Amino acid sequence: MRRRNGAGSRQLVDITDSFRKSQLRLVKILAEERLITGREATMLRNQVERAASQKRSSDVLDAGVTMNNKLARVLRKESCGEVARQDSELEILLEVSRLMQATLEKEKVFERLLDLVQQAVPYESATLFLWDAGAERLQPATQRGHHVDLIGGVRFDHGTGFSGWVAKQRKPILLSELGRGRRHDDAVVGSFLSVPLVVQGDLVGVLNLSHPEARRFDADHLRILSLIASQAAATIQRLLLYEEMRRLAITDDLTNICNRRHFLERLQHEIDRARRYETPFSVLFLDIDNFKELNDSFGHHVGDRILAELGSVLKYWARRSDLVARYGGEEFAILLPMTDKTRARCAAERLRQKIEQHTFYRRKKLTVSIGIAGFPEDGESVDPLLGRVDEALYLAKQTGRNRSCAFGEPLASGLVMS
Ligand code: GH3
Ligand code: MG
Ligand code: MG
Repeated sequence: MRRRNGAGSRQLVDITDSFRKSQLRLVKILAEERLITGREATMLRNQVERAASQKRSSDVLDAGVTMNNKLARVLRKESCGEVARQDSELEILLEVSRLMQATLEKEKVFERLLDLVQQAVPYESATLFLWDAGAERLQPATQRGHHVDLIGGVRFDHGTGFSGWVAKQRKPILLSELGRGRRHDDAVVGSFLSVPLVVQGDLVGVLNLSHPEARRFDADHLRILSLIASQAAATIQRLLLYEEMRRLAITDDLTNICNRRHFLERLQHEIDRARRYETPFSVLFLDIDNFKELNDSFGHHVGDRILAELGSVLKYWARRSDLVARYGGEEFAILLPMTDKTRARCAAERLRQKIEQHTFYRRKKLTVSIGIAGFPEDGESVDPLLGRVDEALYLAKQTGRNRSCAFGEPLASGLVMS
């Protein structure tokens, strides 16, 4: 039974008005997008007006439902897929812009990006290249399936293959008709799509997608991938800037190795980890012998060059898991995870000999003194541990330099540190 509603009901007037506006807006969009013809638009507009002029709310609703059904039919017939795709496209684009919120780890961000791209443009293989401004070329950052750069052997100014061309021209490439598939390395490529990642004219990278079958990518895939690429470019640029800022904050600019602040941070982490897993680790302090004389004789700039070179020697000597830092002027600190004091003692002695044998800038020779302390026996927190390494270094200096001393170990002279 239809319930009568007073013609002057405020509520009905409001509802009818918003219904009228929203339906007319929808008709306008559909007409602009050419999803309905001009005649269909006029017909629908008339229907809206007629429905809105009904005196009873139930009649307004009835007319509205009829009209919505008609629209739904139009959309299903003409572009249902399109509308569904636009919704998910929007979600994908939002996700791309939010990539950095979940993590600041570059690899994870890239992985997630390739997942999102897969949802919008199903591919078999993908390669994300980043533009390395220093080396002036594109470097592969992450990949799924085969490495995709179609004609890898052909060099363009900005790198190899099509991605080099895309980077240079800042234009996308869509190749959907590669016949029965062109063999590239071990992969068959039937369709290929490449878009540049650009932020305000700055090249960030290039994203390449491929599929073994021809005609798997169309102009619409190119459109959505370009939208994703522009979002991703901004996100990746921010991520790389953040990473560079972080790197600079923990790097010593003369030697390009870690600075004291980062060493202290990592030492605290190592203490926490070693406590939890009950594992040992060791710390070395290394100080150049009579460095002041070298500076005084050959100038500060020679001293600087030698300091930087020693930083490289130490870095080259260390294992990947070790941490080498410039602790102060001509003093370096080295963290040796999972290394007890006995092994650290051997490692320090090998390092001391290596430096003694090395010929530095301008054929200069150097020696160093090294102090060694171990966790947990020499200290279970940062300050006591560093105090003990410092004492060991002091003893190495006192007993003649060019030597390594472990805290608490008997010295050649029979003295025992305490
Ligand atoms: P010791 O064997 O007792 O360590 O003697 P030393 O001369 O190395 O020690 P000292 O502490 O008397 O002097 C350290 C010198 O290191 C003084 C300073 O000229 C030099 N130094 C510290 N930082 C830098 C730097 O950044 N660049 C250069 N060129 N020299 C530095
Ligand atoms: Mg010193
Ligand atoms: Mg010194």
